Amino acid sequence: MSDIIQLLPEYLANQIAAGEVVQRPASVVKELLENAVDAKATHIQLIVKEAGKQLVQVVDNGSGMSATDARMSLERHATSKIRTTDDLFRIRTLGFRGEALASIAAVAQVEIRTKLRQQDTGTLLLVEGSQVSSQQPTATADGTSIAVKNLFFNVPARRNFLKSNAVEMRHILDEFQHVALAHPDITFTLYQNDLEVFNLPAGKLSQRIVALLGQSYKEQLAQVDEVTPFITVKGFIGKPEAAKKSRGDQFFFVNGRFIRSAYLNHAVLAAYEGLLPRDTHPFYVLFLELDPKAIDINVHPTKTEIKFEDEKTVYAIMRAAVKQALGLHNMAPSLDFES
Ligand code: ADP
Ligand code: MG
Repeated sequence: MSDIIQLLPEYLANQIAAGEVVQRPASVVKELLENAVDAKATHIQLIVKEAGKQLVQVVDNGSGMSATDARMSLERHATSKIRTTDDLFRIRTLGFRGEALASIAAVAQVEIRTKLRQQDTGTLLLVEGSQVSSQQPTATADGTSIAVKNLFFNVPARRNFLKSNAVEMRHILDEFQHVALAHPDITFTLYQNDLEVFNLPAGKLSQRIVALLGQSYKEQLAQVDEVTPFITVKGFIGKPEAAKKSRGDQFFFVNGRFIRSAYLNHAVLAAYEGLLPRDTHPFYVLFLELDPKAIDINVHPTKTEIKFEDEKTVYAIMRAAVKQALGLHNMAPSLDFES
């Protein structure tokens, strides 16, 4: 016999896929928070212990899942968010690959509690390294709680590769910031080792920015509001004189999804040309909305990269929108935005 190719067993396939999706506790935070947003929660709690190495838990008051769906949610390529290729080109949800929970469950101990609003009893599901160890009815609140314990307990190389708690916590806070900025209409709380570190009531974007990033932002925001048939650009930029030496607080969201883009960053900086003190970086939180058909977010499993069909037009509109905002703020510095 010289035939040697075999299909990988599912748990092994999941473990390999997990390598891409789950790099560190912050990856778990991102995936769980995004699922809670997709489930239309209005209140989302994030609980972390030991910088997520011991526990990452997200509790939401969203749609919840049936017992069958709770079990299905752990299968790879199992999703309620797309059904056809057409759907793939008009994505409105943050998730769609159906890989996150399967990947997470392959490399951690996971406890899912979930209940549909119209049902009296919920479901409690325990999974460890892809193996479901127990599933039973349980009394629980409407919505879903997913607790991910002892990440990489079965992948020692990965576990050892994790950085200090301070570094891992920084990554978690970044993910929390992204989701909280993208959804000022949702109440978020964050508990770190049993201490409440953020309690962000639902409100306006400007209030969310200040609550998350600090009071000093209150005076430095200029509103961006550009609507074209092709794209809308909204959000806030910092006044040039408030630009900082460090490049921290710069955020792009495309159709509600945080993305990194050197190209878009360049467009924003081009608008500031000549206004920024040397070696300083402006603040911005900018939301681009355009037809999902005009973008491809399926570039990378973490979905933080994006391809625009018409990159040049996006660049031009972006720069014009920021220029406009800077001009407005010069003419009317006390403009009361977002009234
Ligand atoms: P995706 O988000 O790409 O669909 P996931 O593996 O993250 O894949 O989740 C699988 C499915 O589990 C989702 O499509 C959704 O139906 C369900 N699900 C996951 N998290 C939640 C949640 N917090 N509330 C309700 N349903 C959820
Ligand atoms: Mg998901």
